[in-house]
Amino acid sequence: MSGWKEKIQKKYGPHHHCVICGRAVPEEKKYCSQECRDSAITYEKKQKKRSKIQMYFLIGIMAVMFIFMFLLS
Ligand SMILES: [Zn+2]
Repeated sequence: MSGWKEKIQKKYGPHHHCVICGRAVPEEKKYCSQECRDSAITYEKKQKKRSKIQMYFLIGIMAVMFIFMFLLS
């Protein structure tokens, strides 16, 4: 029952999995299809937008705290 992973690796050679759908892809490729590449780009853009919003949010909180500290002192 052991070594099925090895067997798969022997059969398909060095490979990894599509970041989006998890299908096995050749090692030099990151995504299995154009579709997955597109959704990966969309996802990355969304993530970037979200982290930007989070950053602004943190800066906003820090600014408010700074103002409060300034007012209270
Ligand atoms: Zn895919």
